[in-house]
Amino acid sequence: VAGETAAPTPSAVRVSAATKRFDRSETAALDDVHLTVPAGSITVLLGPSGCGKTTLLRCITGLETLTSGRIEIGGTDVTDVAAEDRGVAMVFQNYALYPNKTVLGNIEFPLRMRRVDRVARRERALRAAELMRLGELLDRKPSELSGGQRQRVGIGRALVRDPAVLVMDEPFSNLDAALRDTMRTELVTLQRRLGMTVVFVTHDQVEALALADQLVVMRAGRIEQAGPPEEVYRTPATTFVATFLDGMNIFAAEGPFESCSMPGAATVGCRPDHLRVGTGDAADIDLRGQVLMTELRGRDRLVHLDIGGQRARMRVPADNRPSGEIALHVRRSDLHYFTADGMRRS
Ligand code: ATP
Repeated sequence: VAGETAAPTPSAVRVSAATKRFDRSETAALDDVHLTVPAGSITVLLGPSGCGKTTLLRCITGLETLTSGRIEIGGTDVTDVAAEDRGVAMVFQNYALYPNKTVLGNIEFPLRMRRVDRVARRERALRAAELMRLGELLDRKPSELSGGQRQRVGIGRALVRDPAVLVMDEPFSNLDAALRDTMRTELVTLQRRLGMTVVFVTHDQVEALALADQLVVMRAGRIEQAGPPEEVYRTPATTFVATFLDGMNIFAAEGPFESCSMPGAATVGCRPDHLRVGTGDAADIDLRGQVLMTELRGRDRLVHLDIGGQRARMRVPADNRPSGEIALHVRRSDLHYFTADGMRRS
């Protein structure tokens, strides 16, 4: 088909008032979701199991239809457009490769389905394979590949159509930690090089922070907060986001932080990194804690504490081994305040 060889133009995705109800489910899988995915950047959907990440992804691709709401891709309303006509390619967690086809056969398959002629098909499949560093493995079957190589075939197969948008559903979660790291770096490099629009689903906060240009935290079918990852980390909008990202400690405001609480705040939050051992200076808040146990986490040690009857976690360098009853302090400027319904107060 002529036109199939056109260079990809990354497109923005816009989701408006999207609601999805499955037949036999009482709660909405998506509940009035509004989201803009800027063209040429990586948006990561992060949240606990069942919060609607995959459903939102499948609605963007067209594998699911919305109960109500609207989806635009590149400024065009695609709400009622079939999946294959949306210019969206998907990469799956389980790779979903054809076991009887070779690497090259898998990668060129989407073009075969679209009746791209043999020569153009071969050329584009080879280019995608080259891009994914699969040039030496073209004749292998999926069973003869490592997990990382399989996932590179999955990505190559998605890229071969020059999609306007690439969506990825936990694509690296079947890989071991070291390989996952490598694949993330490769994805960012590729995305920057091609300027693709990527929507990436994960429930792994480390992966989300590492990849995202825009981080979207979801909870129970809704978007809890969206923004640059630094901003979401530094100023979580709710206690849910604060605890989901790196486990902020949340204390009742009338507890150990009573002296510094803020009117209207029901809870006070503090990151494990911001609790410090020893007595602080005049501007700090001094606390006492009982060490319950410590866990080695590589370079750091995570210390589980009881502070005035409340559980808390503190991160210290691995060679610190606090024990027993200890003095602690925290800077006022490192505290976060939330209302009784968990909304940020400042
Ligand atoms: P996970 O991280 O576990 O993959 P998720 O955030 O991707 O979770 P979804 O798969 O989008 O969550 O599911 C959201 C909600 O919709 C869940 O409550 C789920 O049970 C429900 N759901 C998903 N697919 C269907 C379906 N085909 N029929 C009925 N309910 C569904």
